[in-house]
Amino acid sequence: MWVGAGVFGRNRGRVAMAAALTLGVGLAASVGSHAAGAIGGLLKVRLGGDAQQTRLVIDLDQAVSGKLVSDGVSDGHVVLLLANVSATGGLQGAGQGLVKAWTVDQTSGGARVDLELAPDAKIKGRFLLPPADGIDHYRYVVDVVSQPGMVRMTSAKPPASAMVLKLRPQIEPTHVILAPLKKVIVIDPGHGGHDPGALGAQGYEKDVNLSAALSLKERLEHASRYRVVLTRSDDTYVPLADRVRIAQKAGADLFISLHSDSGPDSNLRGASVYTLSDKASNRAARFVKQDDWFMKASLTSDRGVQDILFDLTQRATKNRSAAFAQTLVSRIEGKAPMLRRSQRDAGFMVLLAPDVPAVLLEMGFVSNPNDERFLRDATTRTRLMNAVGDSIDDYFAQSTRLASR
Ligand SMILES: [Zn+2]
Repeated sequence: MWVGAGVFGRNRGRVAMAAALTLGVGLAASVGSHAAGAIGGLLKVRLGGDAQQTRLVIDLDQAVSGKLVSDGVSDGHVVLLLANVSATGGLQGAGQGLVKAWTVDQTSGGARVDLELAPDAKIKGRFLLPPADGIDHYRYVVDVVSQPGMVRMTSAKPPASAMVLKLRPQIEPTHVILAPLKKVIVIDPGHGGHDPGALGAQGYEKDVNLSAALSLKERLEHASRYRVVLTRSDDTYVPLADRVRIAQKAGADLFISLHSDSGPDSNLRGASVYTLSDKASNRAARFVKQDDWFMKASLTSDRGVQDILFDLTQRATKNRSAAFAQTLVSRIEGKAPMLRRSQRDAGFMVLLAPDVPAVLLEMGFVSNPNDERFLRDATTRTRLMNAVGDSIDDYFAQSTRLASR
């Protein structure tokens, strides 16, 4: 568990800690803490989106730790605690899209946010955005998506949230079940079918990409923390736009496209990592506006909100792609040769989903005999893919820390 410095300083008592522990592993120890740190203020609560996806943005004047006390899966009632946030007066508002209503109340540990979700809605993710790009405050973002066909289990037990706030130390752990959702990783083996990709001395890029993708899938599924979706699992051609849609439909938390380079100079070798460039982001904006998936969101009455949401999503996605690219580079270094400038921006079509952090990994050059041998050998290729798997672990460990800060 991550324990922040400063905000949750030394004053967190044994009582709060013990109470939290009886609630089960997933629950934060910060519940009910009376830290000596500064109390932040809640500036505003905003909602945007529609019945497909809705985003709640809580504007705050300092970084906060958000803890989901009740995820709403069983009864549609979400309880989120923002530690050390002051919300005097109690706020409430009408819902929008998948959020039917919301309230914010003051509790001993901070602000308590209650959300009533639509019957088929669930929380897709939440994260803290630091001040950036002209916005001078923090934003805690909660994304809600529709999941048609979702059936809520009804429970006779009283809602766990009520007890959590009273911090009864004898709460049975079974009352709070915070099973973490599996992260969805979409692996995209580049090329396929009539599109062979680069040609090496021993064969085509498309085959190397597929072998690597299968190896990475195995590495990720071994940990059972991920759900892995491949854009292709055999030698077929999948159009680029379809690969993006596969990622969006799967609700991907991360998209990684695997390729092998080639160059005119056979001495050129090493892996490189690409993320979306600014120029390509503009293309992404055009692309998604023609797309069914985004159409629904962009046709709602409030265009201003939509633009802000799109912008926010894009910016957050780019930041997260860059963060993943960085961990990826650092994990590959030492395991495989790297190009000197190993992290670059590029407008690759497959990186265009506006809401899915995405990178493209050129694993090495099939036009270089050493790289080709490295990529075609199952042992060395697996070693490389295990490093990629490690970087994915790192990335989610980091983003969990960010979301709960
Ligand atoms: Zn390629």
